[in-house]
Amino acid sequence: MKRVAVVTSGGDAPGMNAAVRAIVRAGTEKGMTMFGVRNGYEGLIASDLIPLSNRDVSEILHLGGTFLGTARSTEFKQSGDAQQRAVEGLGAHEVDGLIVIGGNGSQSGSARLEEMGLPVVGVASTVDNDLVGSDISIGVDTALNIIIEAVDRVRTTAESHHRAFLIEVMGRDCGYLALAAGIAGGADVIVTPENDIEPAEVERQLRAAHERGKRYALAVTTDGAVNNAQRCMEFFQSHEEEIGYELRVTILGHVQRGGSPTTFDRILASRLGSAAVELMASGGSGQLVGWIDGDIAHTPLAEVAGRHKVAPQEMWELLRVLTK
Ligand code: ATP
Repeated sequence: MKRVAVVTSGGDAPGMNAAVRAIVRAGTEKGMTMFGVRNGYEGLIASDLIPLSNRDVSEILHLGGTFLGTARSTEFKQSGDAQQRAVEGLGAHEVDGLIVIGGNGSQSGSARLEEMGLPVVGVASTVDNDLVGSDISIGVDTALNIIIEAVDRVRTTAESHHRAFLIEVMGRDCGYLALAAGIAGGADVIVTPENDIEPAEVERQLRAAHERGKRYALAVTTDGAVNNAQRCMEFFQSHEEEIGYELRVTILGHVQRGGSPTTFDRILASRLGSAAVELMASGGSGQLVGWIDGDIAHTPLAEVAGRHKVAPQEMWELLRVLTK
């Protein structure tokens, strides 16, 4: 493998820049010519490639987002012609391998490109932590730290005013962020797509916290749950007095993906990026490079594509014990 391109795709995640930097520098070390694809799969279809030298990836290690840009491309997902153009565009630049940094949608795209004959290696990156093939993906640790900072700030005001707060976090189909934030932030009730409890049950659990003598209560919801913050707010408009506290709602939204990556994410991104190059250099492809049991792990893209990881049951049991 001599000419390798890297693309960041799907939702931006803190640490993507650190991964691109590691890929470019590890590739250069191995004598590869490196390229960046701008704006995710949109840029791949349009053949929007730029050469990347070691100096081009200076001073990005500490920055959130992705300096290459990213996109959600419906055209790429739905059109075989667009996928074909993407492969041909790389061929026109004589690129013989692609590294895709992204979440499960992006890696479904990687699997498709590999099937079409292009050697592809995926790098696990999504704040949702729903990617099969990695215990933790690039961006999760930073997002969780941002969430916990927000939860702790909200707790100060909740405690002072004896209020209940409902905080909505990201996660789409996966409740990992809400559950981890619930454990680390001391929440009383968690709503996720896997545990999509009705607003009446949220009310019952908040009231139970009041009856236990808590000065305040916290609920965490996931944006992808049916009973997300919006639905709970509609319900509580006519039920607030039954909770026992005044209720306030905070939707964290994209603030969770912003900001500088944590040390953990910088190291994870650097190690996964470098391992992706190592795999390509040894002639391997069609694999996701992730982090399992404290080490680099390779999982076939075909096993990753179209699947969603759910949070471990043991975390739910822990939450149950901790909210007594
Ligand atoms: P995040 O978890 O941060 O949202 P993601 O990679 O899961 O990241 P998606 O928007 O789901 O983000 O996917 C990114 C892009 O991958 C899509 O815009 C689309 O172009 C492509 N993609 C998604 N699903 C498929 C699929 N089944 N086949 C081919 N391409 C896909």
